[in-house]
Amino acid sequence: MPRLVDTHCHLDPQYFPGGVDEPLARARAAGLSGFVVIGVGSDLAPARHAAAVARALPGEVRAVAGIHPHDVVTLDAAAEAELDAIVRADEVAAVGEIGLDYHYDHSPRDVQKATFARLIGLARAVKKPIVVHTRSAAEDTLAILEAEGARDVGGVIHCFSEDRAFAERALDLGFYLSFSGIVTFKTAKSVHDVAAWAPADRILVETDSPYLAPVPLRGKPCEPAYLVHTARRVAELRGITLDELADVTTKNASRAFGATFGAGGDDGRTA
Ligand SMILES: [Zn+2]
Ligand SMILES: [Zn+2]
Repeated sequence: MPRLVDTHCHLDPQYFPGGVDEPLARARAAGLSGFVVIGVGSDLAPARHAAAVARALPGEVRAVAGIHPHDVVTLDAAAEAELDAIVRADEVAAVGEIGLDYHYDHSPRDVQKATFARLIGLARAVKKPIVVHTRSAAEDTLAILEAEGARDVGGVIHCFSEDRAFAERALDLGFYLSFSGIVTFKTAKSVHDVAAWAPADRILVETDSPYLAPVPLRGKPCEPAYLVHTARRVAELRGITLDELADVTTKNASRAFGATFGAGGDDGRTA
């Protein structure tokens, strides 16, 4: 059984009204041994929820808290002060997801850019990495990461959907590249190329649950258990086994999120 880490899942009550226990149990049964739970939304309730899940399951779950670029217009001074306190907690491994989304433009671009820059500053202040969301905004994303000193904290380009030129600049900044269900889509040629080529010590896998279910489950609400399909496709593109891919990505996830994923669980051996 592979021992995978889902490095980006949303487990808020709005997506899993019955709570996190059942989706996490199904994921463990599918071979997952770690989870990075993202807490973002139009207020800080998801950030508090992600931190609570991580506190309840230390060793298995790490939290990430931030403001999604969609929602940056909702971030007032009081919320930003609370976010500052949340990301300082031990169970919160990184600031995110933060970044730019020019595909949906739910928040004005100037507000997205200013908030992204300020939250990189927050990550630098608390000395934690960042999880970056970028869509249809490649050049501005890289320019802000470079200008704001993101290299000092590093982090993850989540749901990687750019090309090799973008990947090279992100790798130069010390970032990991995290592959989602998109890598299982036939048409995602540049993502296949990067997944096959990227350095082994910089790759991660994620579901972005409840979004982006991988083939053959495309269109269904996604959950962490589905990660195995994404991981199998990345392994196939790299010409390695699923177990080898799980081993390397789990080590990378532990390094990226200051965790010891896969260390404490029962792997079926007694000695
Ligand atoms: Zn995202
Ligand atoms: Zn996300």
